[in-house]
Amino acid sequence: MAIHLPNRQLFIDGEWRETVLKKRIPVINPATEQIIGDIPAATAEDVEIAVEAAKKAFSRNKGKDWSSASGAYRAKYLRAIAAKITERKSELGKLEAIDSGKPLDEALWDMDDVAGCFEYYADLAEGLDTKQKAPVSLPMETFKSFVLKEPLGVVALITPWNYPLLLATWKVAPALAAGCTAILKPSELASVTCLELGEVCREVGLPPGVLNILTGLGTEAGAPLASHPHVDKVAFTGSTATGSRIMASAAQMVKPVSMELGGKSPIIVFEDVDLDKAAEWTLFGCFWTNGQICSATSRLLVHESIASEFLDRLVKWTKKIKISDPFEEGCRLGPLVSGEQYDKILKFIATAKSEGATILSGGDRPKHLNKGFFVEPTIIIDVTTSMQIWREEVFGPVLCVKTFSTEDEAIDLANDTHYGLGAAVISNDPERCDRVAKAFRAGIVWINCSQPCFCQAPWGGIKRSGFGRELGEWGLENYLSVKQVTQYI
Ligand code: NAD
Repeated sequence: MAIHLPNRQLFIDGEWRETVLKKRIPVINPATEQIIGDIPAATAEDVEIAVEAAKKAFSRNKGKDWSSASGAYRAKYLRAIAAKITERKSELGKLEAIDSGKPLDEALWDMDDVAGCFEYYADLAEGLDTKQKAPVSLPMETFKSFVLKEPLGVVALITPWNYPLLLATWKVAPALAAGCTAILKPSELASVTCLELGEVCREVGLPPGVLNILTGLGTEAGAPLASHPHVDKVAFTGSTATGSRIMASAAQMVKPVSMELGGKSPIIVFEDVDLDKAAEWTLFGCFWTNGQICSATSRLLVHESIASEFLDRLVKWTKKIKISDPFEEGCRLGPLVSGEQYDKILKFIATAKSEGATILSGGDRPKHLNKGFFVEPTIIIDVTTSMQIWREEVFGPVLCVKTFSTEDEAIDLANDTHYGLGAAVISNDPERCDRVAKAFRAGIVWINCSQPCFCQAPWGGIKRSGFGRELGEWGLENYLSVKQVTQYI
């Protein structure tokens, strides 16, 4: 399908601006491996200009700036952005699919979620007006005290490539709703729709400098942005390794950070389940978006009494999944995002084999596709808890399987990980589901499903999956500071 990639620059202070060093990064279609365009590669020089613009917009004219305007004023812009995204849904969905490799249908659903998230935070921005000056009850009548919720300042929003525009929106919408001004730095592997968000902001007349968008490499654009002294907070989504680097640099300035990091999430399937339903959620939980989901339930724990029948079903259904160019009718799995990811996933599979695991299904490039970064959905058995494939985040379509005999054993195996993002339990016994949900050491738990996500509910992990919560009211609080005002009467 011929798709025209807009030729964009950096979005700074309400306008398109060439990078100071005039550098660009090629955009590769992961389904064909062809270069289809390029994006600007910002460096520290551009970061300076963008931070200055965001700082000015935060307090341009005292009383008339973004930060002190009413929530209702800010909500108007968020709603206008949501409406524009909906209007441009088809075009944005296609750009997302060609840039990231996700099936077109999925990319279009993402655009609905993007618009919904902007709408949701427009509501919360309006609600913020009524929450100001909440009184604090004090033990002395000679004093009265109240609380103001104020925007944190200029925030850096650094995001990954698996849900390019959606994960950027999870940060941009609440940050702007709170009254912060922002610099978004999307992943160099998929930035096209995030740049289009700049055009959307320009079209709706968002005041200059409120949202700035810098594309570029992590080391050249992300690092100077995260460590900039005038950036008041870094909200990061990405790998645990990068998150740890950003925390180290933020520590120098005691700068607040929120961290949405990697995962290795378990799914426990008990012996009392409807096998068809459980198989459906297991496959969805691991292979949706090609397994390139932080919360993918990629460690299956299945009760030993149903393991053989359940695995037969998983293999049969896995073989029916349509792997193709994201634009082909009925495509369920597209290519991985890049050649580097493709090599990494195949290496994970090879290491699993060399450590003694068995590939039950998949494990290679699909025979019918000789171009593009495609990997078959893969199921691996004979796995031990010390194997790399069981312990490390693969971030690809690889499900590894272990059996268990008791509930306690399943919970111990599920929690035996450095990560703590998602966890799922499938059982027909509500009390058991309740017990297991409480026992999971994770920030997000699914009962009789895996992966559904709503912008009203908190999202985030524990342990090496990060801290802080996005979405819901928690997402707004991420960008607010609490000021106490106490008066002597
Ligand atoms: P990554 O850490 O390589 O990159 C994420 C972002 O950080 C990119 O924009 C990148 O350019 C930037 N970056 C890289 N080095 C940097 C540095 N030194 N300083 C500042 N910025 C830097 O991650 P990725 O490969 O883009 O994404 C995959 C990872 O993201 C997986 O581990 C996945 O689990 C995680 N993820 C987590 C969530 C969540 O909600 N917890 C959601 C999606 C993805």
